[in-house]
Amino acid sequence: MPIDFELTDEQQMFKDTIRDFGENEITPLVEDAENNEKFPVELFPKLGEMGFLGIAFPEEYGGVDLDKITECIFAEEMGRINAGIAMCVNAHTSLSMVPILKFGNDAQKEKYLLPGIEGKIIGALGLTEPDAGSDARSIRATAVKKGDKYIINGTKTWITNGTMCDYVIVAAYTDKSKKGTGISLFVIDADAPGFTEKNKIHKLGHRSADTAELVFVNCEIPEENLLVGEGGFTGAMATLLGARITHAAKSVGLAQAAFEFALNYSKEREAFGRPISKFQAISFKLAQMAVKIETARLLVYKAAWLYSNDKKALKEASMAKLYAADVVQDVCTEAVQVLGGYGYGVEFPVERYYRDAKLASITEGTSEIQHVVIARELGI
Ligand SMILES: Cc1cc2nc3c(=O)[nH]c(=O)nc-3n(C[C@H](O)[C@H](O)[C@H](O)COP(=O)(O)OP(=O)(O)OC[C@H]3O[C@@H](n4cnc5c(N)ncnc54)[C@H](O)[C@@H]3O)c2cc1C
Repeated sequence: MPIDFELTDEQQMFKDTIRDFGENEITPLVEDAENNEKFPVELFPKLGEMGFLGIAFPEEYGGVDLDKITECIFAEEMGRINAGIAMCVNAHTSLSMVPILKFGNDAQKEKYLLPGIEGKIIGALGLTEPDAGSDARSIRATAVKKGDKYIINGTKTWITNGTMCDYVIVAAYTDKSKKGTGISLFVIDADAPGFTEKNKIHKLGHRSADTAELVFVNCEIPEENLLVGEGGFTGAMATLLGARITHAAKSVGLAQAAFEFALNYSKEREAFGRPISKFQAISFKLAQMAVKIETARLLVYKAAWLYSNDKKALKEASMAKLYAADVVQDVCTEAVQVLGGYGYGVEFPVERYYRDAKLASITEGTSEIQHVVIARELGI
């Protein structure tokens, strides 16, 4: 079969739809969300109505069941509009609903997936703790079985959608003596007794994203809220591979936004009697930015294609995530440079792009961890 670099008609139509929706329905919300560090929650039901939250989910749960490339088109377009908003949406779909789709029983799927795909409830995933991020096996949260309940104790931090979520999937040790394999995953509803604190975290960038520290003190949940039992944690984490690919797509979108802004600016801004785009120093910068974005996009699409076709995509997903993280930081830094002083001020969005770009190499596996994964896949 020949390699085909064209989007299908359906994918192209989808791209146009999300771009229109983004510019008409999301862009007007961005300034307020960024300034007030508050995700516009009214967006979720609208995204649900458009079918955007159900791209990766089967029709029986209200999804539209499209391929991973379409999901990446969505993530890229969302990243182009606003990285913080894109992150919250990705955390809801790829991090909080995918584990329920893969491991949930019928009752859990009915309870969380149906309204989640409609955007009527919002989910989160809580792995990271104050003392354990990349090294997930070092988490301290515990879950103790008591009758027909589990009692959860622990603190999760940096949790996307943390203050606004209706449920959070939490990793906790059910057997501390078994390092790593003694971890289980639970779904905790936001109104569970003992889910005591949701403390908002203020950040360098992604200010429109909801990020929080979550505290569980003798938090009681019914035993049926167990999602993945002991021994299944590593396998469950492996399913987050798809989220890594969409995360990379989101980085490409943010880089694209910075590039487009810098390109247009360079044609209008004049210095020494001509547009700055006519200086080779600037035009070569823009050419380099375009090459990097295109290369990152190709890596993303390749990983997405492998994933959609049920082929091994671990190395390629990490390559796409790692490279897109480098590219978005390079491109956003150069975009500031193209704008000069105006790149540093808050009047134009490039300053925000620059702040937002840094996160790409931290979340969903840091860039160092992506190197570890790639090296392991190379057999070293
Ligand atoms: C805005 C934001 C949103 C987030 N959203 C979520 C969320 O929704 N859910 C969630 O669970 N978490 C979330 N996180 C947490 C994120 O996943 C972690 O920050 C990330 O996994 C890194 O963990 P850490 O911050 O504890 O850093 P550490 O693991 O302490 O790492 C510190 C440094 O050491 C490096 N390092 C660690 N181990 C190795 C190694 N083996 N080899 C080489 N270098 C290494 C890291 O790469 C990093 O540079 C979010 C974080 C942020 C900032």
